[in-house]
Amino acid sequence: MEATTLKPITSSILNGLHFSRRNDILRPSSLRGGRKHTAGSISISVKRNRLNGYAPLRVSGLSSSGSFDVVVIGSGIIGLSIARQFLVGSDLSVAVIDAAVPCSGATGAGQGYLWKVHKSPDSDKWELATRSHQLWENFAKSVEFEGMDPSEIFGWKKTGSLLLGRTSEEASILRKKVKQLMDAGTRAEFLTSSDLLTEEPALMLDKDGGAAYAPDDYQLDARSAVAFIEKSNRQFAAEGRYAEFYHEPATSLLSSSNHGDIDAVQTSKNILHSKKAVILAAGCWSGSLIHELIEHHGIELDLPIKPRKGHLLVIDNFKPFKLNHGLMEAGYITHESAPNSGSAHTAQTTSVSMTATMNTSGGLVLGSSRQLVGFNTEVDESIIKSIWEKAGEFFPMLRKESLVELRQNGEVRVGLRPYSAHGKPVIGPVPGFSNLFVAAGHEGEGLSLAPGTAEMIVDMVLGNPGKVDPSPFAVRGRVC
Ligand SMILES: Cc1cc2nc3c(=O)[nH]c(=O)nc-3n(C[C@H](O)[C@H](O)[C@H](O)COP(=O)(O)OP(=O)(O)OC[C@H]3O[C@@H](n4cnc5c(N)ncnc54)[C@H](O)[C@@H]3O)c2cc1C
Repeated sequence: MEATTLKPITSSILNGLHFSRRNDILRPSSLRGGRKHTAGSISISVKRNRLNGYAPLRVSGLSSSGSFDVVVIGSGIIGLSIARQFLVGSDLSVAVIDAAVPCSGATGAGQGYLWKVHKSPDSDKWELATRSHQLWENFAKSVEFEGMDPSEIFGWKKTGSLLLGRTSEEASILRKKVKQLMDAGTRAEFLTSSDLLTEEPALMLDKDGGAAYAPDDYQLDARSAVAFIEKSNRQFAAEGRYAEFYHEPATSLLSSSNHGDIDAVQTSKNILHSKKAVILAAGCWSGSLIHELIEHHGIELDLPIKPRKGHLLVIDNFKPFKLNHGLMEAGYITHESAPNSGSAHTAQTTSVSMTATMNTSGGLVLGSSRQLVGFNTEVDESIIKSIWEKAGEFFPMLRKESLVELRQNGEVRVGLRPYSAHGKPVIGPVPGFSNLFVAAGHEGEGLSLAPGTAEMIVDMVLGNPGKVDPSPFAVRGRVC
């Protein structure tokens, strides 16, 4: 049995498995870089193969390495949140598999907005977003209740959010947005450019500009939040309910019956049996991965999830000014929903919108870009320049600073958002299988939508009545 990451337990036995610690890796491995992905809309066709449609349980020289109620594929914010929800909300045991480690995917580059201000109350995602917001608040309160400080542990801050419009047209759209949010029960107000002088002294907007302000929006540090969730999950390892299999890509789903049940997940090193459910939460890799995982089951499924590259510039210990809120330009909403609307950058498939937050250790975090350039995660210096110049349009003091010098005290983060062609995640059972579920395609909202997604999946698996209508996210409902 290959050693895998389990912290803080450095050498323990769980379900007969031995674990030891490995080093973290912060980038996706190149082995996943060349995967093909499938764009377009979801299409499913069920074609049973000659062996009555189901592949026999293959052991192929690998040891059968444990049995769990639930096996989760992917340990980003979505996979780990699902694991957590099973652990705290049921008595089921959970194994988490990852091709690398948590935060090696999109999650590690997430800016940390847990926002409602840029979401639309008349969209399919609103109910899920509202529920997730509530669950994040409950999570932070539970951490406080246990005597810890969520701001120290995972950068939790109720900064409120400012969605900025620079022109009179944008300001008028934002005024309408404020009304829409308030009608939907979310606290919001419109701030004029002169109001903003006191709220954010470093920000410069023309007199016609303004902002939609939602005081109850939060931010967190994605990497520390994931580390905390992972640590909480590991507390269940001692009672045999949790195990991690990192650096171990899932390669196949195994089945011995003809009832559409998945019996086990084969990884590069092990076979992990699943008694109740297998959850595919592999972010932008989910679309191509599902092909590989089920190809021998005679079922074809096109999940329209593809990678959308994003850059984030982090400048530690930033002195020139402070931010009191999280900020984002209104154009972000268009860039998020329209893949090909390049405006601040030349390429058709590229856009840059100004996003700015200040983390709890005084670092300035600037974003963010969107590029449809496959699985490439190389830093693109021209994108960093665009992000910096865009930020300078909103914060003129930045123009006096040297990016080269500031970057000595910081880093660039690159992540692949799981972009879904329908602008909303895919959450639910996979047709043709009785116990296979998908939770992927959250694009730029995976951090904020994670707890609601996890709750939805767990309710589905347990057969509980859901808190949020899952139908807009169904796999089957989006077949064309
Ligand atoms: C620059 C940037 C800024 C962002 N800012 C925000 C923000 O402020 N707020 C917000 O809500 N969202 C934000 N997002 C979006 C958010 O980060 C994503 O929606 C979220 O992280 C997706 O999580 P995930 O778990 O689905 O995917 P990922 O984090 O990508 O995790 C998928 C995991 O699957 C694993 N995997 C792949 N193939 C296999 C395999 N064969 N077997 C096993 N495991 C496999 C990968 O190694 C990876 O760890 C941002 C994203 C970017 C890039």
